[in-house]
Parts: sequence; structure tokens; C-alpha cells
Amino acid sequence: MSDLRELYQATILDHYKKPRNFGPLAEATTHVEGHNPLCGDRVTLHVLFDGDVVRDVRFEGSGCAISTASASMMTEAVKGRQRAEVERLFERFRDLIAGPEGSEADSDELGKLAVFSGVREYPTRVKCATLVWHALHSALGDATTVSTE
Ligand code: ZN
Repeated sequence: MSDLRELYQATILDHYKKPRNFGPLAEATTHVEGHNPLCGDRVTLHVLFDGDVVRDVRFEGSGCAISTASASMMTEAVKGRQRAEVERLFERFRDLIAGPEGSEADSDELGKLAVFSGVREYPTRVKCATLVWHALHSALGDATTVSTE
């Protein structure tokens, strides 16, 4: 189990040091600002919708390792997916780290995102991991700001 934990930490650290899909997105159709006052994480999410498909997604901002890695891995996970699939991933991810006991079991479809399961044990970091997902959820619903407060 400790090997697994180290692997998880290595993945999160890698995405924190080299965030994927980081930067502006000129063609974006939706922009959402997210703020987690508990930790100070800030994220701006740029999404390019093509009908029901997330054609491209990038993010900017600054935050802790968990929030940055979560944003980086989220963009990789949802790019090219349909809205309905993204909604489902959002719910799965939320359940994985903050859902009722047992709801984290069905996490196969989360793939690499399962590395965040360890966050369950640190309630103060849950909002760091979910911030960018709440921003994405708002983008799907056409809202433009989100706060975890
Ligand atoms: Zn944070």
C-alpha cells in the first residue's frame, strides 16, 4: 500500500511541476473563475465547446500542488468528451474523494484520476482537488464564477 501511495504522490507531483494544458485559450467559448479561499487556490478555466463536445480545455492560475495537479489531470481527462460524459466524471470524481463511504469503490472509469483517492483522508484538501471540477461543472451550466466557500 505504501508503494501505491508513493506512486500516487509521484503522479500528483509530476503534474504540479509540469502542468498539462496550462495557459490561455484564445478560441475558448466559456471562461470560469474558481477560488478556494480555504487554501488560496485560484483557477481560471477556458473551455472550447463544439456542440456537445469539449473540443479543448486549458487553465491558468496558481494554487497548491493538489489543486494544480487536479486541474492538469482534469483537462487531460475531459478533452474530446461529450458533456454527459464529463458530468458523469465530475460526479465520480466528487464521490471518489468526498462521497459517502463506499462510493469510491466504483472508480474504474476515473482511470488516472484515481490517484486523488488519498485526498479523502485529508478533509481540508478536498476543496483543493475539487475546485477545478466545480469550475468545469459551472462551465457546463454556463455560470462564470465558482467559489468553494
Ligand atoms: Zn489548495
